[in-house]
Amino acid sequence: MNGVTIEQRVAEFLRTLPAGITLVAAAKTRTQGEVQAAIRGGIKILGYNYIQEAEQMVAIIGHNVRWHMIGHLQRNKAKKAVQLFDMIETVDSLKLAQIIDRHCAEIGKEMPILIEINSGKEASKTGVLPGEVDNLVEQLSQLSHVKVQGLMTMGPITDDPELVRPYFKTTRLAYDRLARAKIPNVAMRYLSMGMSDSYQVAIEEGANVIRIGTRLFGPRMMDTTS
Ligand SMILES: *Cc1c(COP(=O)(O)O)cnc(C)c1O
Repeated sequence: MNGVTIEQRVAEFLRTLPAGITLVAAAKTRTQGEVQAAIRGGIKILGYNYIQEAEQMVAIIGHNVRWHMIGHLQRNKAKKAVQLFDMIETVDSLKLAQIIDRHCAEIGKEMPILIEINSGKEASKTGVLPGEVDNLVEQLSQLSHVKVQGLMTMGPITDDPELVRPYFKTTRLAYDRLARAKIPNVAMRYLSMGMSDSYQVAIEEGANVIRIGTRLFGPRMMDTTS
């Protein structure tokens, strides 16, 4: 790809990233070699959408990097997810959080989680509606092994990042509202939004975690985003 290696691309991306922004490399479909090149370039956090793919890569790479679940988590995969991941960014129901909490209790682990917001209010999408997040977070604050640390959103997929801005704004409003509510056992520390085409807009709207795939690794052969 233009003679520039993944390692160089990652290093350059990190060099230009504003201070205080955490980069998650969205690594779905990437080979072991590509992922290792990204780590040489400076990647500290790998994001995965599927348990099985993450499991294979964790077995190879280990825990010198951190692992974030960024895809929808099925309840029957929660036990495995709890073993593999350092953060689950996509919790969107009390039921799922309770199952994560129970599996964490079994192995004595605390799991930082983000609440996924369906900011576009799309019927086809996972995530909790912006108007329902406060109630959900209140309930999750009661769980002892799950720690709400912030919010995550995808927003509608479009070619024009300006069209996603309103959905990032909506998510930021919920984030600020929850921060002001000062719910015990809940911290609004991470706001995860923005992908390769939209991360600049996301940062303008307050994101401090961005999840980037294509811009680091190049185009995916088979796109599994949606
Ligand atoms: C694939 C993916 C990304 C990154 O997408 P790119 O457009 O390749 O940067 C971010 N977040 C999630 C949840 C993803 O599945």
